[in-house]
Amino acid sequence: MLTFEQARKLILDSVSPCGVERVEILESLGRTLAEDIVAPWNLPATENSAMDGYAVVAANCREPVTLEVIGHIQAGGVNDSVVISGCAIKIMTGARIPPGCDAVVPVEETEEKDGFVHIRGPVQRYQHIRFKGEDVAEGETVIPEGTVIRPPEISMLASCGRVFVPVFRKPRVAILSTGDELVELGEPSASGRIINSNAFSLAASVREAGAEPVILGIARDNREDHREKMREGLKADAFITSAGVSAGDHDYVREVLEELGVEQKFWKVAMKPGGPTAFGVREGRPVFSLPGNPVSTMVTFEIFVRPALLRMMGRRRVIRPTVKVTLAEEVRKKPGKVQFVRLRLDREGKGFTGRSSGDQNTGILKTMLMADAMAVLPADSSRFATGEEVDALLLREDAGMLEG
Ligand code: AMP
Ligand code: MG
Repeated sequence: MLTFEQARKLILDSVSPCGVERVEILESLGRTLAEDIVAPWNLPATENSAMDGYAVVAANCREPVTLEVIGHIQAGGVNDSVVISGCAIKIMTGARIPPGCDAVVPVEETEEKDGFVHIRGPVQRYQHIRFKGEDVAEGETVIPEGTVIRPPEISMLASCGRVFVPVFRKPRVAILSTGDELVELGEPSASGRIINSNAFSLAASVREAGAEPVILGIARDNREDHREKMREGLKADAFITSAGVSAGDHDYVREVLEELGVEQKFWKVAMKPGGPTAFGVREGRPVFSLPGNPVSTMVTFEIFVRPALLRMMGRRRVIRPTVKVTLAEEVRKKPGKVQFVRLRLDREGKGFTGRSSGDQNTGILKTMLMADAMAVLPADSSRFATGEEVDALLLREDAGMLEG
């Protein structure tokens, strides 16, 4: 049986980015850049002042000196008066340095009176001048393809004049639930029944990963209904089914997917929860068959589907890092399989301590809500003592953040 790492590798080797689109600059936030961005010009475009002050010739200001102010340049303004010895031009931050000048003296270090400015000196050549191209040279690659776009990248894109940005397309991800026991959320008969919550947890996870969920509803436990709804699901960029993959009498998911041309790559993984997870490919598109218990569905999404979707969106780094957590209480598991254990975390010094969030049964949803992290407990051990360090995946974006 495959380990979860082997299964994940197999999945990642089977998927690739699903295309490129151009979006308006702000819409590119959080997306992955699909082409190198090359600077169309120098940044700064011209030499300009880093301070409000006076543009001078440094060589004339070695000693304290009084200069005639022969002009004034606003930010963004230009003044091409040639500054000769004995003169200065008042200049605002960002304005182009006038010809002949090679230094700026900040206002704070001067006194101006009746059209003359007194400079205490000495003045260093090039002080408070930003040079043409000192940040970025024309023709330089400023953001490489594959970069995830954050506010600093947006700033660079804007500075390079990009109104539209080429990014990898968001995959459309079809979600199909299976089971005769399920009812749809909002149906009058829903109270006390098993509501199709997986459709929503999966759609939320897909959206959180940056892709586009398409909820297809419920396939009832017969081949006919599976066939019809799976044909629809297989049209999407990626297809996720939930439940119906165990050894039950009416588990038709794998059988029907195979009949519809999905090449099955694996159908069992040595992990808990999430053992009966299947993965296949049809025409280059991934098909994930996740187990139906809501906790197993979420755990297998996190371990297998999320990295695959990120790769399909052009991301290079797709696997969440683990953090070290010191156990604040003993944790036991059965030997033989890796187990993902839901943990509550506390900040302790620079690190985290963790304890079980409660009942680890896959039928218990509440302890998933209470979990800040999931410990990844290795297959061969069965007892993890208080004080032992384990690897854990952070599940909350705000884990470890302070209240302020
Ligand atoms: P199965 O793998 O078909 O045996 O499903 C296992 C269990 O998961 C079922 O008994 C349900 O309790 C639960 N389950 C299956 N599908 C869903 C779903 N779409 N939403 C919530 N719970 C589900
Ligand atoms: Mg079922």
